[in-house]
This record gives sequence, structure tokens and C-alpha cells, in this order.
Amino acid sequence: MRIGAHVGVAGGYAAAVDYAVSVGCECLQVFAKSPRQWNAKPFDPDAARAFRDRVAELDAGPVFVHTSYLINLGSSDDDLWRKSYEALADELRRGELLGARGVITHTGTAYKENPAYTAQRIAGGVDRAWELADVSRPRILLENTAGAGTTFGDGPQELGTILALLGESAGCVGVCLDTCHAHAAGWDLSRADVWNELVTAFEWCCGMPIEAVHANDCMFAAGLHKDRHAWVGDGTIGYPGFAAMFAEERLRGVPAIIEMPGDVPRKDVENITRLKRLRDGAAGS
Ligand SMILES: [Zn+2]
Ligand SMILES: [Zn+2]
Repeated sequence: MRIGAHVGVAGGYAAAVDYAVSVGCECLQVFAKSPRQWNAKPFDPDAARAFRDRVAELDAGPVFVHTSYLINLGSSDDDLWRKSYEALADELRRGELLGARGVITHTGTAYKENPAYTAQRIAGGVDRAWELADVSRPRILLENTAGAGTTFGDGPQELGTILALLGESAGCVGVCLDTCHAHAAGWDLSRADVWNELVTAFEWCCGMPIEAVHANDCMFAAGLHKDRHAWVGDGTIGYPGFAAMFAEERLRGVPAIIEMPGDVPRKDVENITRLKRLRDGAAGS
């Protein structure tokens, strides 16, 4: 597994690549626009080219884009739903400019009392975004959630339900596993046997391999639906849990990205070092 981090772009996109490499990243994730605003000015093609060149030069990829937190593809409100798929289309175009392999998005909050409707709504939104964006490269990766409140997509089953309903975009959509979210949703990833079960469940329910991992430890116990990321080894997944991740053969070629709280560069240097140590340990055994 290549190991990387979600990195900030306040200093510019090309500089973000330099930062990523300086803290040990072998892949990276960025926001392609402010994650808390609907609108953003169009991407500057020169900045995008400089970013792509830097990634190639430093072998810093693959690159992933994480979408805005405002996107809610499961909304029953027509205006919000339309805004959401238009925003996802915009993220895909930005992802294409950045040379991203995948655009990772949460599926949205919705109505647990009517999961079939919600899944249908999300799949329809993904299809429309794909059609509008008209991109060639980036895949849409649906990320599992912690299952807090009314969020949809808390595991392989819900994600698989969405995937099965896709039309236009089928074949261009995959899944991203967030370890903190899965743990919070009830898969106790401190245990190697649960890792095995979870990866198998993804294969069965989604019919495809996991394409990216967000390797975050979790501050709260498994099953509490609390999405609070902890540093690798400091949370309730712990070192044994991440060692089990590296031992899982079906994840061997999958990029792992950290999304950590704390101050840069220490949070990135420290967490990447910890993960690399575990990966080396798995390779040595
Ligand atoms: Zn995540
Ligand atoms: Zn999270």
C-alpha cells in the first residue's frame, strides 16, 4: 500500500505536492475547492498543470480529490439534490484537471425510514453528475460513513445497494473505505478477523475491490457511531488493527491516506512514519 495524507492547498497546489513529499507521502488527497462553500471560481489551468507536473516529477501520485462536505446526494429536497449533483460534477471536472485517479465523496444524509428511496436518490444523483461532468479519467469513489444520525452509506451493504442502482455511471464508480468510519459503524477493526470479514463484505456487496483507504484511527469505541479521527495507534483500532490492514492481501495495491487532526507537519510526519513502520513489519513477517 502506498501511504499518503490529505494535504492543504492554502500555499498553492504545486506547493502542496512539495509539502506532501517532504512529510513522506507516496500518494495524496486534496480539496479541489473550499469544502464548505457551494461556489468557487474556475480552476486556473496553469495551476493545475503545475500540480500535475510536480506529481509526475516527484512520483507523488496517485492523487485523490475529496469533495465538499455540503454535497448531499440523498436529499429529498429537489433544489439541494440538484445543487449536490452539479457540485459533484464540478468536483469531477476539477479532479480531471488535477489528474486525479478518484474523486471521493460521502453519499449524504437522508431517511433511514426509507433506505430504498435514499439509495435510489443517491444513485440518480451520481448518474447525473457523471453525465454532466463528461470527464474521462477520475472515478467517483463512494466513502463509507460512521452511520451517525441519518447519514447513509455506513458500510458495504448500503454502498452496494447504491452501486447496484447506477445507470449511466455504472463501471465508473467505486468505493473508498474509511477505517475510522467503519470502526465507528460497528466493524471492530482492532481485530484481524473483522478486517477479513469487512473486506469480504465489500467484495460481496459491492462486487468490486476497494480502491482507496482512509487510514484513520478512531477516538471512540467501535459501534458508537462517533466520527472522531485519532492518530494511528492512539485510538481504538490501534497498532494491531493497522498491522492487520497491511497483512490483508486484498488491500496490498490500495493507496492509504490519513486525514488527521493536529498541527502540520508533525501530524503527517508522525502518522506516516507509524504506518510505514507497520507496513515494513507486515512485509518482514
Ligand atoms: Zn475519510
Ligand atoms: Zn471522518
